[in-house]
Amino acid sequence: MPSTAPETGSAVTAPTHKLAVVTGGARGIGLAIAQRLVTEGYAVIAAGRSAPAAALPSGVVYAHLDVTDRSSVTGFFSGLDRLDLLVNNAGLAGKLLPEEDNPALWDDILATNLTGAWDCSRAALAKLPDKTGRIVNIASILAVRGEVDQPAYCAAKHGLIGLTRSMALYLGPRGITVNAICPGWVLTDMAAQRFAELNTNADDIARNIPIQRMAGMDEVAAMVVYLAGPASGAVTGQALVIDGGTSLRA
Ligand code: NDP
Repeated sequence: MPSTAPETGSAVTAPTHKLAVVTGGARGIGLAIAQRLVTEGYAVIAAGRSAPAAALPSGVVYAHLDVTDRSSVTGFFSGLDRLDLLVNNAGLAGKLLPEEDNPALWDDILATNLTGAWDCSRAALAKLPDKTGRIVNIASILAVRGEVDQPAYCAAKHGLIGLTRSMALYLGPRGITVNAICPGWVLTDMAAQRFAELNTNADDIARNIPIQRMAGMDEVAAMVVYLAGPASGAVTGQALVIDGGTSLRA
């Protein structure tokens, strides 16, 4: 367990459980992943910047971790004895056009989505067991296509795929797999903020998705479970898209 005492949620009592860390796991997709991992027998640390607004599910504990702060990352991971699964889920999106002078937003988006995943992965390396250790990076459909007003987010998420492939090669000899998941629209706070920017709503978005609906957080979580488990032991360096077919369109 981390040296930072868990601040909320139920205590993790079964020492035989595998341990998963989900960055940004206190809300949105991260929370859904954390919740699902508990049902799969993991003890889960939801590691994030802000304490959860509501009680976390049993089996999930919160610990402070700002993925953009290297001392926070180092301190958090050095407090773990062992880690079976790291899910780099913490993310930040933001509208940005080249004519806007907003270097801080560019830096924040790159630091959160890309450098944060690199720093957390490096810090986790010594804690992951050979053969069964797993890293899953939550990228985006914008890791495989562009978006006119999201250059920083697209650059960061494309970069996260490159990081996934490189780390997969590096960790292959240890039998540790590294994969990425690329969701399309998933109904969270981040998506709601984007709907407002685009002056649209969830129904209109869903109508434009080939399967006529967004992916559920539970479906992203199920993909994490697959990539964390023994059935996917030969899958590494891959970017699995879950977008209802959106990226098939030109
Ligand atoms: P939310 O905005 O709902 O949640 C983002 C999470 O990341 C929050 O828990 C937030 O914590 C955390 N976070 C942000 N910055 C940091 C930081 N510096 N250190 C630690 N935690 C941080 O987003 P989603 O749940 O929608 O997104 C989860 C992941 O899925 C992200 O990587 C996102 O890019 C990706 N994604 C989402 C899609 C969608 O449609 N929703 C589509 C494709 C990809 P805090 O509460 O402190 O802000």
